[in-house]
Amino acid sequence: MAVEVATDYPMFIDGASVPSSSGTWLEVRSPATREVVGRVPAGTEADVDRAVAAARASFRDGRWHRMLMADRVAVLNRLADLIDEGADDLARLETLQTGTAYKLRRDSDFAFASDNLRFFATQIRHLEGKAAAEYTGSHTSMVRREPIGVVGQVAPWNYPMWMAIWKVGPALSAGNSVVLKPASATPLTTVRLAELAHEAGIPAGVLNVVTGSGEVVGSALAAHHDVDLISLTGDSETGRKIQTLAAGNLKRVHLELGGKAPFIVLADADIEAAARGATAGALINGGQDCTAATRAYVAREVYDAFLDRTKALFESVRVGDPFDASTDLGTLIGDAQVVRVDGFVQRAREAGATVVTGGFRPQVAGHPDGAFYAPTIVADCAQDSEIVQKEVFGPVLAVLPVDSPEEALEKANDTTYGLAASIWTRDVFRAMEAARVLNFGHVQVNDHLMVTSEMPHGGFKQSGFGKDMSSYSFEEYTQVKHVMVELTGEPEKGWHYTIFGDAKG
Ligand code: NAD
Repeated sequence: MAVEVATDYPMFIDGASVPSSSGTWLEVRSPATREVVGRVPAGTEADVDRAVAAARASFRDGRWHRMLMADRVAVLNRLADLIDEGADDLARLETLQTGTAYKLRRDSDFAFASDNLRFFATQIRHLEGKAAAEYTGSHTSMVRREPIGVVGQVAPWNYPMWMAIWKVGPALSAGNSVVLKPASATPLTTVRLAELAHEAGIPAGVLNVVTGSGEVVGSALAAHHDVDLISLTGDSETGRKIQTLAAGNLKRVHLELGGKAPFIVLADADIEAAARGATAGALINGGQDCTAATRAYVAREVYDAFLDRTKALFESVRVGDPFDASTDLGTLIGDAQVVRVDGFVQRAREAGATVVTGGFRPQVAGHPDGAFYAPTIVADCAQDSEIVQKEVFGPVLAVLPVDSPEEALEKANDTTYGLAASIWTRDVFRAMEAARVLNFGHVQVNDHLMVTSEMPHGGFKQSGFGKDMSSYSFEEYTQVKHVMVELTGEPEKGWHYTIFGDAKG
C-alpha cells in the first residue's frame, strides 16, 4: 500500500525553500504511530556548498552584521514573537516527529527557546572588552569583538527546535551567517524555524538549513574549507569525528556532547525533594537529555527510604499517547533507541543487578508499534558496569548505596563525562565542598535540570568544550581584534634602531 506523505519540508538556502540536488527525499516518521509525518530533501555535498556560498556572500556584504544594531535586535525579537505565536503548532510538529509528550514541548521547550533568543538579542547591546588606553604611551589600543564569519551547526534530535535556538541564537546575534543541519530523525521544526526567521526579517543567506544525514551533510559541513567555526550538539563519538574533520582548515570547534550525570543524596537530604528531583531528572524527555540524572549515589542510612519513594513516583508516571493531556511520558525517538535502552537494562539484569521497576516495553492502547519504554530503576549494579559508565539515553536510573560523602564524590567523578551533576543535602559546607570537587560544567545543589538563559551550559572532559546560553556562548561566536592607533604622528620611533640605523646618543 502506498504511504501517504503528509507534507514536504524543503531545505532553506539563500532565502528560499529548495529541494536537494540529489532529487531524493527522506521520510520522517512518528515514533508513536510509525506514520510518515513529513519528508525532507536528502542533502548532498553540493547542497552544503550552495548553502556555504550563500552564507559567505551574505557575510561578505554585511547585510546582517552591518545592519543597524537596533534593527538586528528587533528582528531577533520578532523571531522570538513568531515562535511564541506559533508555539501550539510548532509543539505539535515537534511531538509528531519526536513522540515525546506534547505538554513538555509546548510548556517547556518553546517558552525557553524564545526566551533564549530574546536574551541573545539583548546581549548584542552589552559587548564587553578592555578599556581603550595608551598602554605604550604613544598608541591607543582598543578591543573589537567581531563575528567570526560562516558558522556550521549540527543539531541533535532530543530537543530539535530548542537545541537549534541554543545554536543560532548566539551565532546570529553576534552577526555570523549560519548553515544549520538538523538531525535526520527530526528536521521538520528546524525547517520551520528558517522560514520564520526569514519572515522575521533575517536577510537571505544568513540562516540556511540543509537537511540530510550526518555522514553526508554533517561531515561536509565540518570539513568545509569556507566554514570558520563548526558547532555540534551530539554524541561524544560524533564530536571526535567532527573535531578531526575540522582540522583541515583549522576551523574553530564548539562541542556540546554526551553526559552521565550523577545525583548524590546525602544522609541529611530532604528525601521527598530528592525523590521528586530524581524522578523528574531521570525521566525528562524520556531520559533523552544530556543532563538527565542517570546515577544516584545514596547514603546507606537513607537508601531504602529514597529507593521506595522514587520507585513509587516512577510507577506513577503515565506512559501513553504523546498528545493525550494526561500523558507524562511519550515514546523514545524510535525503535532502535528502545532496543538500545532495553539492551542496557537486560545486560545489567544478567550481570546480577536488580530491576526495581520497569525494564519492559509497555503496551499503549491504539499504538501497538509505538517506541515506548517503561520508567526503569536498576539497583545493585557495580560502579564499573556499563549501565553506570555509559550514556543510556533512556528513562533509566541506576541507584547505588554509598558509605560516605567522600565515596559519593569519588564515584560521581569516576566517568569520562563532565556535563552536569547534583547534590542533595542541607549541610552548606558539604554542598560547597561538592560544588568545588565535582568535575562537571554544571553543579546543582538540591535541584537537577534547572537551566537559565543567563547562565552557561557546557561540559568538561568528554562532554565537550564551549558553552551554550549566557554571555560565554555569545563570546564563542565572536573573535577578538586588537586595534592599535599611533598618536604622535612622528615618523621616527625610538625603537627603529633595533631594525635599522644606530641608536641616538
Ligand atoms: P548524534 O551525535 O548521533 O547526532 C547529532 C548530530 O550529528 C545529528 O544532526 C547527526 O546527523 C550528526 N552527525 C552524526 N554523525 C555525524 C558525522 N559523522 N559527521 C557529522 N555530523 C554527524 O547525537 P544524537 O543521537 O542526535 O543526540 C544525542 C546525543 O547528543 C547524546 O549523546 C546527548 O547527550 C547529546 N546531547 C548533548 C547536549 C549538550 O548540551 N551537551 C544536548 C543535547 C544532546
